[in-house]
Amino acid sequence: MSRRMYPDQHNIQISTVSYPAVRQLIAQGQLIPIDRAPESDNPIKGLTDAELYVLAADAPIEILSDVACVIGGLPVQAKLYALPSPAYHAVVRANPFTQYPGIAELRATLRTSATSALEGLRRAVQQGRQPGQLVAAAQESAQFVSCWMPDQTVVQIKSLPKRAEPDVFLTLAFRAAFTGVFPPRREAAMGLDVGLQPHTVVAREDGQVRHYHLSPLVRLPTRSLSSAERELHEILQYAQGREDSEVVVAYLIGHASHIYAEVLEHRGMSTKYIARSRQLALQDAFYSHLSQYANAAGIPFTRVDAHHSSTTCPDCETRGERDRDIFRCPACGLQRNAHEVGALNVLARGLKGGVHLRTGRWRASGQPRRPARDDFAEWADAYHFPGLGRR
Ligand SMILES: [Zn+2]
Repeated sequence: MSRRMYPDQHNIQISTVSYPAVRQLIAQGQLIPIDRAPESDNPIKGLTDAELYVLAADAPIEILSDVACVIGGLPVQAKLYALPSPAYHAVVRANPFTQYPGIAELRATLRTSATSALEGLRRAVQQGRQPGQLVAAAQESAQFVSCWMPDQTVVQIKSLPKRAEPDVFLTLAFRAAFTGVFPPRREAAMGLDVGLQPHTVVAREDGQVRHYHLSPLVRLPTRSLSSAERELHEILQYAQGREDSEVVVAYLIGHASHIYAEVLEHRGMSTKYIARSRQLALQDAFYSHLSQYANAAGIPFTRVDAHHSSTTCPDCETRGERDRDIFRCPACGLQRNAHEVGALNVLARGLKGGVHLRTGRWRASGQPRRPARDDFAEWADAYHFPGLGRR
């Protein structure tokens, strides 16, 4: 499996308050429209049917904080904290970056005490973002070092159904170098079941199964928070989810010979689940970051059709019943955790022949005729679900 030579790309949502700035940059010729390359050789594998713009030479990008950057002299607000850890660290290294002080302590209180967390949020916001802070929101990766490539930044404008205005995304490009144990150990092929609690179950070809749980966070009365406090709370929730999901990513990169995951399909998922898994970085981790890092480490990654994966018996393939987290097979009597059943079926379907596509687009096994949708398009489509609490 050869390493895709294209950079890693991470799509960041631009805040609606900055849409006028984006329009102004386009009008001034500082964002230049480009044509999308044919899909067979498409380095910008972002959102399908989006209008693409690149930065003009006189419109550099500088990232000021995890929510603010400047393009061609104009301030643009975007959720820049929604990056995988290696990319986050690359951005902080490259920019005079400001962050709230005391983030490490605040993250700890968010796991233990609502009262202390509220006080901590207030105190941090009162002090304001400051330069020279440690990157406490994202752990340094032991497996990847990323280098940010600001001149390859792309702005994507995508019209979505049910939305009055198109959505605008900032796509940042990185070169990720694998720095982990080399060659990766490649012990077994592994299949994933992604949910919330456990957020991931990994099934290995040798029969081992591993469960990964989200760290519990205290519930805060978010309505009583100021908008800056709420934003910081969102950043910290995302940071915790990222840390939780990156434990799995690190395990897979360090041990898997081939990774099989389900095709992301938001149809059929509850909007509440999508919103929650997005807040907790799980959508980004499993539908954008994992495939790109597997690629950087040279580990094959394949998506498979996961329909009924948690309600089909992994032993005899009979459709069974699921009662909360318990699967029961009416034919052979198997009773097993439904997340494990899901992961085992994803693995089995992958081993039977999921299809790996070269450009970062993935086709499900057993669906040869249906045009594949790429991960990023599905990922972006999650935005048009109501109740996602965009700002
Ligand atoms: Zn059975």
